[in-house]
Amino acid sequence: MAETKIPYKIYLEEDEMPKSWYNLRADMKNKPEPLVNPGTGKPLSKEELIPIFCEELVDQELDDTTPMIPIPDEIRDFYKMYRPSPLVRAYCLEKKLGTPAKIYYKFEGNNTSGSHKLNSAIAQAYYAKKQGLKGVTTETGAGQWGTALSMACSYFDLDCKVYMVKVSYEQKPFRREVMRTYGASVVPSPSETTEVGKKILAEHPGTTGSLGCAISEAVETATKNEGYRYVLGSVLNQVLLHQSVIGLEAKTALDKYDIHPDIIIGCSGGGSNLGGLIAPFMGEKLRGEADYRIIAVEPASCPSFTRGTFAYDFCDTGMICPLAKMYTLGSSFIPSANHAGGLRFHGMSTTLSQLYHDGFMEAVSVEQTSVFEAAEQFARSEGILPAPESSHAIRVAIDEAMKCKETGEEKTIVFGLSGTGYFDLVAYQKYNDGQMSDEIPTDEDIAASIAKLPKIN
Ligand SMILES: *Cc1c(COP(=O)(O)O)cnc(C)c1O
Repeated sequence: MAETKIPYKIYLEEDEMPKSWYNLRADMKNKPEPLVNPGTGKPLSKEELIPIFCEELVDQELDDTTPMIPIPDEIRDFYKMYRPSPLVRAYCLEKKLGTPAKIYYKFEGNNTSGSHKLNSAIAQAYYAKKQGLKGVTTETGAGQWGTALSMACSYFDLDCKVYMVKVSYEQKPFRREVMRTYGASVVPSPSETTEVGKKILAEHPGTTGSLGCAISEAVETATKNEGYRYVLGSVLNQVLLHQSVIGLEAKTALDKYDIHPDIIIGCSGGGSNLGGLIAPFMGEKLRGEADYRIIAVEPASCPSFTRGTFAYDFCDTGMICPLAKMYTLGSSFIPSANHAGGLRFHGMSTTLSQLYHDGFMEAVSVEQTSVFEAAEQFARSEGILPAPESSHAIRVAIDEAMKCKETGEEKTIVFGLSGTGYFDLVAYQKYNDGQMSDEIPTDEDIAASIAKLPKIN
């Protein structure tokens, strides 16, 4: 029987776009541990969370039983401008590698923000607007989240204040201008505009900042300004929920051609694109309906899963945010200036942390020079200039495909291409000039920040 030819791009129709998000937690027997109030050591109640976060988002955050949560029409209408996103068969990369493996990637870079982050930004902006707020505050690392949120806020006419990790603010001035064009105000973090920023600057003069610092500043600003709430682009359960559109679409596309993946790979900073991509597949795995190898890829410079500890920790450097039980390097860990800014977070989604802890997924860490080698190979064969973050997933997809070349196995590999790298050209320049280095924390570095974990377990 002739095999159906799989097209280069599997596109879905507009009406095949998911009508509900899938809440993976509903199918988990061991639920992720709740966020805890650092003062009392008790799980945070809705009442404690609503001064910080939008109310409906708090409901989504705390809901670990409802499997399908309808996507409001206003959000679906926005999604229609850039979704469904294509699932691409990487025929050209396969040929270049000479592998019998079949490689697919779900491409989330087809919008101005250049990444998957818009999927959650638009949802969060919608709920903020619905609640009648004036605006939102947030942090951004590499700048993709800030850009996505600026786009979403301008669509719903909300004010948007972005604290941008200083190293990115300096390396990526054009990102900043995109955000300002959409009407956001952008402040390099740590800054003198907040109490926590001043404190961090006093303790670490000259620091290039981290996501953890920027989160502290954004939360402080939200709680001190009437009509503002804080929104976060990753890590939280609500963000993984919104990102499930990635996996739901990928699954629909694969099912259309009766394709069963063996391995699913994604890069993992706070875990949202990976959590979104794997959601329906992990659901099947948890329900015992199918099995997949699921691999999280993280930078060797910030190895939360592979070298971190599963414990309650602060989500921010300033230690003002709730505690989350997650794989963490310690909230005082400040990673070296890796070019994958979006992966420089000390912790990890509580949902993915629990799944990893329970053995439902694997994790590997990779060094940035080998990541850029993979990025270059991908760009030269598939044409898309990948984000450094996404290139972590490319690295491991290529590694797995090369293993298939050795063994002759025709495995099907799906990976998440979470975004494009047009704003990462300083990093590409370093790589092209042969000036990229790999900075890996020592065991002592990690032990020092782990020793400062809060004592709640
Ligand atoms: C932010 C970002 C990531 C990392 O964040 P997750 O929440 O782990 O997905 C990965 N890729 C791109 C392109 C990003 O912008």
